[in-house]
Amino acid sequence: MKTIVLGGGVIGVATAFYLRQHGCEVTVIEREPDVALSTSFGNAGVIAPGYVTPWAAPGMPAKILKYLFKPNSPLIFRPTLEPAQWRWIARWLRECDLERFRINKRRMQRIAYYSRDCLHEFRARYPFDYGRSQGYLQLFRSEYDLELAQPALAVLRDAGIVHREIDAAQCVEIEPGLRWARKAPLAGLYLPDDEAGDCARFTRELRAVCERIGVRFRFDTRVTALDVQGGVARGVRIESEGEGESEGKREGRRGPGLLMADAIVIALGVESAALLAPLGVKVPLYPVKGYSATLPVTDDEKAPRAALMDESLKTAITRFGNHLRVAGTAELGNGRNTLREQALQTLMSVLDDWFPHAANPTSAHFWVGRRPMMPDGAPLLGASGVDNLWLNLGHGSTGWAMSMGSGQVVADLIARREPGIDLDGLTLARYRK
Ligand SMILES: Cc1cc2nc3c(=O)[nH]c(=O)nc-3n(C[C@H](O)[C@H](O)[C@H](O)COP(=O)(O)OP(=O)(O)OC[C@H]3O[C@@H](n4cnc5c(N)ncnc54)[C@H](O)[C@@H]3O)c2cc1C
Repeated sequence: MKTIVLGGGVIGVATAFYLRQHGCEVTVIEREPDVALSTSFGNAGVIAPGYVTPWAAPGMPAKILKYLFKPNSPLIFRPTLEPAQWRWIARWLRECDLERFRINKRRMQRIAYYSRDCLHEFRARYPFDYGRSQGYLQLFRSEYDLELAQPALAVLRDAGIVHREIDAAQCVEIEPGLRWARKAPLAGLYLPDDEAGDCARFTRELRAVCERIGVRFRFDTRVTALDVQGGVARGVRIESEGEGESEGKREGRRGPGLLMADAIVIALGVESAALLAPLGVKVPLYPVKGYSATLPVTDDEKAPRAALMDESLKTAITRFGNHLRVAGTAELGNGRNTLREQALQTLMSVLDDWFPHAANPTSAHFWVGRRPMMPDGAPLLGASGVDNLWLNLGHGSTGWAMSMGSGQVVADLIARREPGIDLDGLTLARYRK
């Protein structure tokens, strides 16, 4: 079967790998010159199936209002006249109800746990270094934030997920670098089975594995439209800017073209909705910007060992080998990929609060990315409603954690195999009820 995967982020490359495992002929189309150069590039790297949480949660609207006008806010809202923004916000608010939160969290956990199993299985077959670390520590600054975390803690308890609710001294035992924190945390939550790793590095290594097993990559190639006839997707219209095809075939391929396929997967991150809209496939996807800073560690003893989350300011600090990354901020309503000083200052002040002597702030490399967010937090996997056209999108703030499982599930569906998990609540059907 001839398949085309649109998008060379972590989701697209994972899908390509599993399609090839099923014996498909696979081509990945990517507008950039390499994989993982968009949202998959500078993320926090956390793989926390125990704690994947929808942003739509009880108490969140009040928290947003509280933070909106603070200088060090992890939330930035730019109201626009775009109806899509207001529709998305209205849907998001509906999902903040406690019962909806529980349902959405369980759906996200189902795909995230499956994904971690897929990742571990893959890693056993193809061992390579991607800055992996073990364990995930949440830090709480105030009673208010501890209170807000109660619904999520209840889900952990009900689901029997291994976790420890700990005090400040126990936080320091797990992360000794916190001894130099400017102020002790009020409390912590430790998930020993969660982990972290550099998503971009992993995706580049995965690309190399894919190429070895026969997946073709067409870089510098933009998808402009889908060719659909009689309700059946038959091909992809492309515009090539370079000659960037892998597998050594460097024949001149500039200009427009049409590639035909038996199955096409949309894994274009935040750009997915625009390509689907002309076909009448409406997906409530909205970009939510986030920022990160990557710095070389200067004092190992005073630096974090693994991944932490400042739960109050929703900012992650992750260790990748000799580097650490601080990532966070949710900015709604600004589509441009420009760095915002206010967000960068928040990141650096969170790092300074917890690990003031771990790295030199002047050496920070800043990045901005756009999360492909669904209002309820769960991704869209599987059928699109157009024959031969498949979805693997909307992974929001947890796409790296869900990547291998999502790739496996979508490849299974295309190859007409039974997926390893129940897909209830993870497909487009949930928006068509
Ligand atoms: C600050 C921040 C922190 C995050 N932290 C975490 C975390 O700790 N853990 C976690 O699991 N997730 C995290 N995420 C989320 C995660 O990064 C995303 O969910 C994930 O990268 C989405 O992957 P993707 O492949 O869907 O999208 P992308 O990586 O954006 O891939 C889509 C690809 O499609 C290509 N493309 C788009 N349009 C076209 C076109 N017309 N033609 C050709 N190619 C096109 C793009 O160039 C891109 O390479 C974070 C995100 C941010 C912003």
